[in-house]
Amino acid sequence: MPCDASEFLQQRLDMVAYQLERRGIHDENVLAAMRQVPRHCFIPGQLQDMAYEDRPLPIGYGQTISQPYMVGLMSAMAQPDPEGAVLEVGTGSGYQAAVLSLLFKQVFTIELNQELARNAERVFVELGLQNIHSKQGDGSCGWEEFAPYQAILVTAASPRPPQPLLDQLADNGRLVIPVGSKPGQTLQTWTTRQGFFHCTYSIPVVFVPLRGKYGWSEVDWEWYDS
Ligand code: SAM
Repeated sequence: MPCDASEFLQQRLDMVAYQLERRGIHDENVLAAMRQVPRHCFIPGQLQDMAYEDRPLPIGYGQTISQPYMVGLMSAMAQPDPEGAVLEVGTGSGYQAAVLSLLFKQVFTIELNQELARNAERVFVELGLQNIHSKQGDGSCGWEEFAPYQAILVTAASPRPPQPLLDQLADNGRLVIPVGSKPGQTLQTWTTRQGFFHCTYSIPVVFVPLRGKYGWSEVDWEWYDS
């Protein structure tokens, strides 16, 4: 049954007021996007009542939809650009991509898990989000065909910023990425200016691992926790 996007409006407004604005996210475009996107439509049916709570939630296959605050923070760190293109690595439920679709002209998003990629694609179509282009694959290598991007968001923890993602940034572009191992990571913004990269921002976070060519192997990820 298609999701009723008009449900839970008051919870959505409260989520933005109490979880985002009160914690210091003031980018009006980000706040407006998160008031608009029906987060519950990206969450498995039995958990939809919890969609606006201040926490990540399971979406199946051992993966999660990020906490609303984290989605807002990463969107603000990406610096919305209505004329620009953004790449997201780790589509998951599709919620972050949907928020980005109101902040950038084009959104490209890649998910490793075939089923999650399919589910997200279905919700994008259902909600009429026509500027999102999604595919199944290893996003740690980026999506070269549509580069350069004004912003790249990685929603899984990486051992280091993958070089192909840095290479696919436009000049003055931002790579927002959790970097670190299982016990802890920092959320970093890497910016590029005339071929030079530098890290401009960093706070502690906890994410699931980035897999693939430039991500964590299962053995190494678990080893760091032992
Ligand atoms: N942004 C998502 C959302 O709004 O629901 C949450 C993403 S979840 C925290 C991280 C996702 O990254 C998982 O769905 C996982 O399968 C995916 N992932 C991990 N490694 C990946 C890779 N190399 N390429 C693409 N997706 C990857």
